[in-house]
Amino acid sequence: MTTFGTQFTSHFAIARYEDGTWQAPAIEPVAPLSLHPAAHVLHYASTCFEGFKAYRWSDGKARVFRLHDHVGRMQKSAASLRLPVPDADLLAGMVTGLVARHIDDIPEPPSSLYLRPTLIGTLENIGAAASPSSTALLYVLASPVGDYFTGGARPLKLLVDDERARSTEQLGSTKTGGNYAAALGPTLDAKAEFGVDQVLFCPHGDVQETGAANFLLISGEEVMTKPLDTSFLHGMTRASILALAADLGYRVVERDFTVAELLEKAKTHEAALSGTAACLAPVGTLVYRGEEIPVLDGGAGEHTTRLRKALQDVQYGLAPDTHGWLTEVG
Ligand SMILES: *Cc1c(COP(=O)(O)O)cnc(C)c1O
Repeated sequence: MTTFGTQFTSHFAIARYEDGTWQAPAIEPVAPLSLHPAAHVLHYASTCFEGFKAYRWSDGKARVFRLHDHVGRMQKSAASLRLPVPDADLLAGMVTGLVARHIDDIPEPPSSLYLRPTLIGTLENIGAAASPSSTALLYVLASPVGDYFTGGARPLKLLVDDERARSTEQLGSTKTGGNYAAALGPTLDAKAEFGVDQVLFCPHGDVQETGAANFLLISGEEVMTKPLDTSFLHGMTRASILALAADLGYRVVERDFTVAELLEKAKTHEAALSGTAACLAPVGTLVYRGEEIPVLDGGAGEHTTRLRKALQDVQYGLAPDTHGWLTEVG
């Protein structure tokens, strides 16, 4: 399998918002888009996206994980950017239509088909910095992807940054391009200076998340993470891990915690990052003010591994889908 995100199915799904309404979607060969150089997205970053996966089970059918929740999150992102909000049925239909067409291109678990709905503002007006885009393009790309953990779950090293924020108060829970642009510089600087994999953004000491994944503390008794607020992205993997943890008898604690508390908890808890691409990835080391702090013994923790397997078993069809997270296609 090639590098994550560089290989695509031959076709994608596309729909336009024009004259105040969504036009009928189509499935077309993947090809360069034609955009006016004044398009709103290119100047004022009116863009949001989603990321989730479809798995092909041994019965030959595909299962899309938490499709309707991802569609709902895309609608919230679009509304927060004042972009035309795609109808839930329109977007869900574009996804399932594309998955159905490419079912034979989905590699078997632990590989999958990564789905990337994208919405961009296409209004041709460079004077529209303070106006919404009244036209838009919605499309769904599909990309066959391999297992993130090929070669084992190498524990990650994070820089704990207690000053900078990943995003802003108003866009923290919006999956929008500008947030990744904001996190890129600090993350590259931290990689170069400290050899870390990611930055854990903790503005004013409030432990939030990394550039593209949520952060959890895990012990034999509890799973602890920040409660939902507008400062960070509400991951579907986070929500799913919390639900499965509760099923397995862990105490689920959603509360704010500080960097000081995090460093203390690193002596008794495992740490992990959650997101669609990596599922639940162990964190082995924290770097804070130039000092390296191991999380427990620095290895991949047993509870992190157990919770990841519990989620993957549902996704791969090895455990029952008791929460109704899967949409069957085919
Ligand atoms: C997408 C994303 C996540 C993870 O969300 P999932 O729904 O679990 O894939 C977490 N943080 C950020 C900033 C993200 O963009």
